[in-house]
Amino acid sequence: MTFKDYEYKRIDIDAFKKDTDKYVDILENAPSYEAFKDAYYEFIEIGKHVFSMMTLSSIRNSINMHDEFYDEEKKFWDLNGPLVEEQLNRVTKTVLDSKYRPELEKDVPKPFFLLADNALKSFSPEIISDLQEENQLVSQYYEVVAKAQIEFDGKTCTLAELGTYRDSSDEEVRKDAYKATWDYYQANEETIDNLYDKLVKLRDSIAKKLGFNNFVEQGYVRMNRLDYNENDVDNYRKQVLKDVVPVTEKLYKDQMARIGVDKLDVYNANFEFTSGNPKPIGTKDEMVEKASVMYKELSPETNEFWQFMVKNDLLDLEAKPGKRAGGYCTYIPDYKAPFIFSNFNGTKGDVDVLTHEAGHAFQVFESRWIKEPSLAFPTFESCEIHSMSMEFFAWPWMESFFGQDTDKYYYTHLSGSIKFIPYGVLVDHFQHDVYNNVDWTPAQRKARWRELEKQYLPHKDYEAIPFLEQGTWWFSQLHIFAMPFYYIDYTLAQVCAFQFWLRLQKQDPQAFKDYYEICKIGGTKTFLDIVKTANLQSPFEDGALSEVMEQLNEYLDKSPVKNLK
Ligand code: ZN
Repeated sequence: MTFKDYEYKRIDIDAFKKDTDKYVDILENAPSYEAFKDAYYEFIEIGKHVFSMMTLSSIRNSINMHDEFYDEEKKFWDLNGPLVEEQLNRVTKTVLDSKYRPELEKDVPKPFFLLADNALKSFSPEIISDLQEENQLVSQYYEVVAKAQIEFDGKTCTLAELGTYRDSSDEEVRKDAYKATWDYYQANEETIDNLYDKLVKLRDSIAKKLGFNNFVEQGYVRMNRLDYNENDVDNYRKQVLKDVVPVTEKLYKDQMARIGVDKLDVYNANFEFTSGNPKPIGTKDEMVEKASVMYKELSPETNEFWQFMVKNDLLDLEAKPGKRAGGYCTYIPDYKAPFIFSNFNGTKGDVDVLTHEAGHAFQVFESRWIKEPSLAFPTFESCEIHSMSMEFFAWPWMESFFGQDTDKYYYTHLSGSIKFIPYGVLVDHFQHDVYNNVDWTPAQRKARWRELEKQYLPHKDYEAIPFLEQGTWWFSQLHIFAMPFYYIDYTLAQVCAFQFWLRLQKQDPQAFKDYYEICKIGGTKTFLDIVKTANLQSPFEDGALSEVMEQLNEYLDKSPVKNLK
């Protein structure tokens, strides 16, 4: 059965509510653990079906936003999604409070309980109106960013559309596009400062109402950091400053030499080669075919997975009119089917979809045996290990995608991933300081950002855009507004993926086996347990970054494209 035959039917919310009442009752009055467990698994199947319908509706709406039927369904789910969640939470609470919980803990993986406890700790009816206000403030930020109408190159552009100009190979165009972008943020400085100020104070008050000391504490719970804390993150930061920043500084120096400048102006920071970025060859169908060869040769398991995706039409890759922007991987439990969505545009990003998103999809495909929907994917920092590592397992086949640009691809893939780490840690560090100092004025926040930027990204040169010198770059980082503390996750996963890269460089025959193992366990283990299962070193441990950074540095230093124009 292919994706188009997957049946969608709107859920009857009243009937679902009645089901929930029934199961809460059965669970509360179960005469034995066996009866309790049976009811628990029966309800899981009902919940999975609701979740499948919600996901199917959302996928089909994102593929064609002009489709009136799924537009109506989207409205239905926007309205009813929170009601469904409320009902699911009722059952979860019943399960957690049950006298049978100790027995269930022997049958159900630990993260299920940790996640459920976190969900309950982060919620109380008392904060519903605060959460609504938080959503509104976040929407207002999105609006400020989305409504930009900037005259450029004879066209009216959004900030996203200006992105193409910011990446132009023509220096003047790049420079003007950066100026136009930041002029817009500067014109909205007061609005953004006020929005963020309200968000910070509101989140602090929510945290306190829920009994946390501050929002930093609650942030760790919201982000489901199940087995590490602020001290671990603090230790990780120190290692990034010691082991990663010197490497990135050297990479920026090499970049300056390549592009022929003696200082790295902000509009040149993403400009790697005067001859252009690596470009993939072939049409969408040709690239899917190349991916089929790649996954067939990589392992029988990846072959089975990719054949399943192709045969069942679970890839919607091409940009089309009416299609939502961006890319994602999701999972439809009723059909045990992952789904990959993207907008191919002829750049290296297209290949990333076939490796990175496919890494997520492969993990959830191998985790189909897991009964609890909340454990199909692990927590965020672990999820990205699967995707980012798959990018490296795919390296031997990159020549078929990039041809003569392959070395450029390897170089930009590694150097870009390394350069991201200090930035990602900075975004996280800044937020710790902001939520630990709720009374800071907007000016104090900006000063702190610039101070931290000088530690993590000392190459930054804002001479061309003095507004950025005031410490405002984070105005463009939507996670800071919309998903507080969601960022360091990417860097933690990257550090783990680099360890797989190193093992592959050393031709470790165990590498894929370990990778496959953590795909199978999905979310049944916590981050540090997953890292251990993969025979990787925890990024929080002293010395975890030194060897891998040394090897990466050596590899990049020897790259044939290091000095290429
Ligand atoms: Zn990802």
